Amino acid sequence: MKKAYIISTGTELLLGTTVDTNSMFLAQKLGELGIKVMGKSIVGDNRETMTAAFKTGLDLADLVVASGGLGPTRDDLTKEVACELMGCELQLVEEELETIRSFFAKRNRRMTDSNRKQAMFPPQATVLKNRLGTAPGMYLAQDGKVLILLPGPPREMQDMYLNAAEPLLRGDEIMTGPASQSRVIRVLGPGESQVEDILSGILDKGADYGIALLAQEGEILIKITVDSGNCQDDQERAARRLNQLSQRIRDALGINIVCEGDDTLVGVVARHLTEKRLTLAAVESCSGGLLSKMITDLPGSSQYFWGSVVSYSNEAKQGLLGVKPETLEKYGAVSEQTAAEMALGMRQRSGADIAVSITGIAGPDGGNEAKPVGLVYIGLACKDNLEVKEMRFVGDRNGIRTLAAKSALDLVRRRLMSGGGGQ
Ligand code: AMP
Ligand code: MG
Repeated sequence: MKKAYIISTGTELLLGTTVDTNSMFLAQKLGELGIKVMGKSIVGDNRETMTAAFKTGLDLADLVVASGGLGPTRDDLTKEVACELMGCELQLVEEELETIRSFFAKRNRRMTDSNRKQAMFPPQATVLKNRLGTAPGMYLAQDGKVLILLPGPPREMQDMYLNAAEPLLRGDEIMTGPASQSRVIRVLGPGESQVEDILSGILDKGADYGIALLAQEGEILIKITVDSGNCQDDQERAARRLNQLSQRIRDALGINIVCEGDDTLVGVVARHLTEKRLTLAAVESCSGGLLSKMITDLPGSSQYFWGSVVSYSNEAKQGLLGVKPETLEKYGAVSEQTAAEMALGMRQRSGADIAVSITGIAGPDGGNEAKPVGLVYIGLACKDNLEVKEMRFVGDRNGIRTLAAKSALDLVRRRLMSGGGGQ
């Protein structure tokens, strides 16, 4: 598997004023090519730290990708530092100077002498065009290593990576040799350590594969990576192995598995509802409409989504859904009974096949010992069933609301996958 190292340069990244989003983008894109990111550095516009970062990168990886510091000013050092380490001299490239000149002319601005620096490149490098700004990037393959330098502004960096750098990288000979195939399986329900425990037999034995677990917004992502060669036979063997491993994971985790690959929780729910020709309605209290947003983020959701009510106050719960005043009085707005009546009321009023309800305490205030922040009840009413699940989430207000909305979707998914929910 090929290895990469990512370097983000710019003093602003160290001051806490700019978030390093470039390395996130690059890590994701390199991952898609089956390249393993060994590490990242964020360094200021400083010769010593930049040199140290490039040394580390060239030492650890086959490919070093850096962004930032290609501008005309004195603190733009990336190209000089990287080329010096690669033992390459910078020379003026007339064509690039002309491009920069015309960029300024078009905008009726004067080009300064310092802009010449942006047109200096090692003769053995490929200059990467910058369609959105002045600083060109470069691609240099030498002694089995590849160095890619990209500009700092995210739009320019992404455009240059996707249109100029990635095509070169795909065709580069450093990319030949053992590659890999991977697949992500998403799990909702059990926690990370529980998943690890359930999969212990599979996790321990990785000789020709690797399995990594990652917790993300209440979901556990299981990433399986299988080594594969470049020839068709190897690729097919790796694909078979990947299928085999994901089947074992499916067997072990059963209905806790939400989806594989690029699929999503909301996508799975949408597919089941469409296939079974069922409709869904929602009633939300503490999630304030987030569940409805998640559902309607998917185009075409009007096919199966009736709509929702955000019944935030007790009055709304009573007036719009028919939750009984005695229920609210006796058990409170955040209770199993209220969640049940919300779902039943919603199903009856909407005529949808399935109604799902959420009521809980998102915090930061409003909790007590008996009903702490993070306590959420999720109700589901359908033709043959009424169920309420009590959840106890940990997190800030946003986190709890997100987990509540996802768990509501997951309850619908489980009902649909176990064959329920029908008219
Ligand atoms: P530079 O190419 O170094 O002149 O960077 C220009 C601008 O791009 C900076 O002022 C930042 O706003 C932005 N930028 C640079 N590096 C990054 C990064 N790693 N992530 C996000 N934005 C960045
Ligand atoms: Mg900079």
